[in-house]
Amino acid sequence: MVNVANAADPGIAAANNGPRPLQMGAKGAYIVRLLMVGDSACGKTSLVLRFDQNVFSTKFVATIGVDYRDKMVKIEGAPMRLQLWDTAGQERFRSLTSNFFGRADGFVLCYDISNRPSFDHVIGWMRDIKTRAPPDCDIVLCGNKADLDNDRVVQAEEGKMLAEEYGVQFFETSALTGHNVEAMFTSLATTIKHNRIDAFDGGGKFD
Ligand code: GDP
Ligand code: MG
Repeated sequence: MVNVANAADPGIAAANNGPRPLQMGAKGAYIVRLLMVGDSACGKTSLVLRFDQNVFSTKFVATIGVDYRDKMVKIEGAPMRLQLWDTAGQERFRSLTSNFFGRADGFVLCYDISNRPSFDHVIGWMRDIKTRAPPDCDIVLCGNKADLDNDRVVQAEEGKMLAEEYGVQFFETSALTGHNVEAMFTSLATTIKHNRIDAFDGGGKFD
């Protein structure tokens, strides 16, 4: 609990910078805010649609501003309402999407394995997250379009090494085939459960 009287105490302030417990929603599920970020056209909207509805479309409709979807999951018995915020990657929307960073619990930072600049820009996206998002948010680096092996310009090893450098999880996914999509979202949600639920209530309270 935040004690206003002790707010000036650096020790207390440091303690308050640790992970915060996840919010419980009205329907008895933990609320988890996940943001999809990364360059335009790397497959953020497609990953959300594959995960939520198990569909895929080759149509590219640029997301304007921010799109939102709700997905109920059970992670190790814990009911979690994943709020999937699908942001537009275009530079001109950056200030808009940045406003959402401050309330995020997790990020799916996407690039396209057939597009080198989208991988180069991961550094900039990571910088945005580090400067604008809460320090207790969890991140997964996601190399999408893994089905496009003939057009691959970013090796899986490069993605893995960058993720290790940042200390975040790494997955290669394909929204087209569905490969690793559920595994990626589930892994992120599981980490968030461990850090933001179990760390407070003790594990094993869900059957
Ligand atoms: P966003 O701008 O990051 O939201 O990207 P979209 O989800 O709109 O996808 C951009 C384009 O890439 C669309 O034409 C999609 O059909 C295509 N796409 C998305 N994911 C994949 C994938 O995993 N494999 C392939 N081959 N194409 C994909
Ligand atoms: Mg989109």
